[in-house]
Amino acid sequence: MSSHQIAPKGAFFWSVHFGYTENMSSTHTSLLSYLEGQSSAMLDDLRTLVEIESPSYNALQVDQVLDQLEAWLVALGATAQRISGPNGDHRHCIFTSNNSNQNPARVLILGHADTVWPIGTLERLPFRLEGDLAYGPGTYDMKGCLIQALYALKAIQSLGSALPITLEFLITSDEEVGSPSSRELILQLAAGAAAVLVIEPSIQGNGNLKTSRKGGGEFWVQVQGIASHAGVEPEKGANAILELAHQALQLSSLAKPELGTTVSVGKILGGTATNVVPAYAEFHADLRVSSLEEGRRIEADVAALTALNPRTTLKITGGLDRSPFERSPQTVELFHKAQQVAFELGFTVGEGGVGGMSDGNFTAPIAPTLDGLGCVGAGAHAEHEHIEISQMPPRAALLAGLIMKLAQLE
Ligand SMILES: [Zn+2]
Repeated sequence: MSSHQIAPKGAFFWSVHFGYTENMSSTHTSLLSYLEGQSSAMLDDLRTLVEIESPSYNALQVDQVLDQLEAWLVALGATAQRISGPNGDHRHCIFTSNNSNQNPARVLILGHADTVWPIGTLERLPFRLEGDLAYGPGTYDMKGCLIQALYALKAIQSLGSALPITLEFLITSDEEVGSPSSRELILQLAAGAAAVLVIEPSIQGNGNLKTSRKGGGEFWVQVQGIASHAGVEPEKGANAILELAHQALQLSSLAKPELGTTVSVGKILGGTATNVVPAYAEFHADLRVSSLEEGRRIEADVAALTALNPRTTLKITGGLDRSPFERSPQTVELFHKAQQVAFELGFTVGEGGVGGMSDGNFTAPIAPTLDGLGCVGAGAHAEHEHIEISQMPPRAALLAGLIMKLAQLE
């Protein structure tokens, strides 16, 4: 643990008197120098989290990571609520405002404790430091990000006075598998929030923040045909594989890559034996879109697909599951604030869009959302996953500074 002052439970203490703006960059300098002094503590805590393996669906393990994070946040003055989930209990940690205003603005920080790495990965890929890089499963996505957020809060607290906003930190247990048990909770907490700060890693390669993400979903196409002997009476059959092949081409032709819309048939199944005209076949296809409009177009076009062979029947299920995280004016405004904070901290940060989805896809349509506020590094979901150690203090300071900027708006 670091040398922060102990705050009364339930209250979050900040050093800066809000409304006092003329010396913002010196506040930022204080945040940064505090965080630079915490570099080795951050790495120690990162090691603690990485060495608790936490694959999605392993509730026991994921809960251990969440227990540790909850303990750290409670020590900082948060009130923690556990929301039970089949894959580990989500933690909603709240720093209440000391504002006499009955309805203070709420800022929501959003992260997850699960990783894509199975138990045993650490034996092959242990947590290790090499030069400026910290390697290990989940360092970049997103245990390093969780540590940065924790220290961002410590940094704000190290400065010492109370904040006129309610700060909430939601850490979920199942983001890597599509947030089945946390989706509703995320939507509830994001509704009415002044800002949602998603602490997923920054964009690989340039460290930029994420101001848009594609949305997407899946289609499952099933064809029922008629079986017959392929040699004796093929004419009596209705070949489900042929029909499915036709549908795969039809569906794929709906893509408009120039608009960011892609359709990829990714899994196929059908038939029983070579000498049998197949009675059944199916495929699963992945859909990605950059705009809701495109998502709706694809859904309508898919609904209009009909069987080429009238003796077969088609069943199509699925559709757009996550709306795109579109680059809304509210997101751009948040990004500009972050950019200003970075500038005052002495570095520049850009923005960009990515194809992969996050819980930010759920919040962006209902609350101002900025994503990619976590680590600088590379190799999410890959063997060389790592973060840049020297970037931890400035990125934590960026998050801290952004929260303070949002608090001042109150
Ligand atoms: Zn992630």
